[in-house]
Amino acid sequence: MEAKDYYLNLHEQPEGEHEIHIKGCLYFPAAENAEYLGRYFYAVNALAEAKRRYPSWNINGCCHCCDEIDTD
Ligand SMILES: [Zn+2]
Repeated sequence: MEAKDYYLNLHEQPEGEHEIHIKGCLYFPAAENAEYLGRYFYAVNALAEAKRRYPSWNINGCCHCCDEIDTD
């Protein structure tokens, strides 16, 4: 298993969510909106880091690259 680079989209989606993506995702945000979260084995660790940085945000995983933490 390989660790992956996770990023948070600082741009809010129409549904009011901020999505987490893995580098290389087809739906990766524009560079200026992508905040690097770190290198993790599991998306859940990236989610925890994102929530630590932005406690008031509604943060979700991208359904294409972070399906295991996508709650929709
Ligand atoms: Zn994605």
